[in-house]
Amino acid sequence: MTPDTDRRSSLRAEVAACTRILNMEGLIDYSGHVSARLPDGSGIVIQCYDDPRSGVTPDGLLICDMDGHLVEGSAGKAPPREVFIHTEVLATRPEVHAVGHFHPEIATIFSIVKDTGLAAVKNHAARWADGIPVHPDPGHINTPAAGRALAATLGSCNAALIRAHGVVLLAESVPALLVDSVHFEENAQAFWRAAAIGAVDPLSDAELAAFTRRFDRAKHVAKLWKYYVDRAIEREVVPPEWLGYTQPGL
Ligand SMILES: [Zn+2]
Repeated sequence: MTPDTDRRSSLRAEVAACTRILNMEGLIDYSGHVSARLPDGSGIVIQCYDDPRSGVTPDGLLICDMDGHLVEGSAGKAPPREVFIHTEVLATRPEVHAVGHFHPEIATIFSIVKDTGLAAVKNHAARWADGIPVHPDPGHINTPAAGRALAATLGSCNAALIRAHGVVLLAESVPALLVDSVHFEENAQAFWRAAAIGAVDPLSDAELAAFTRRFDRAKHVAKLWKYYVDRAIEREVVPPEWLGYTQPGL
């Protein structure tokens, strides 16, 4: 096995595990998808349109090219209609290697509230210090042109809300995407709860910059990825062998 095919199969395992964990955490439900850029940059690994997110397997994932066309996958399987979110965003952001799109309850609500943008109120939301733009078109991103429009809304930001629809998150790896997904909804929930108490005082640019300066993102991602994978293995949501984990006592 070449390092490239080896990495392809570990990417499949990461995407499948991430999807099941997001489902376990209530962030992805009957819909929503996670993609990872292939090591050679020729395409993406992504779920099928209609496979239950709780039962996604590494081998059941599809490979699409950067135009969203199916390249590898079982007969009769099709990518999500919104595959263009992934292909078009990855095409414009070479430093991004994983993209998630789903419809978390609280964060999505902020896309329809006038005069109250979703801002950072928890320290880990410093990831979105550049802003969280709202894409104005609530429709499905099911054409390359719609994907390009979303990429334009994102610009250099690492997250966007799609009006009355959901969120798009960008990360450097699949584990980082999982961690960002958890923190994104946590931040929205904190904002919502704070607003019920009184006027919200989001973190300032200086506070966000100070947090980021002393923050080791790689260590944080590794710690939380391990936490969620361990929890998923304990609950038999993710088979331990996918990620090379061995269970104590086996
Ligand atoms: Zn959607």
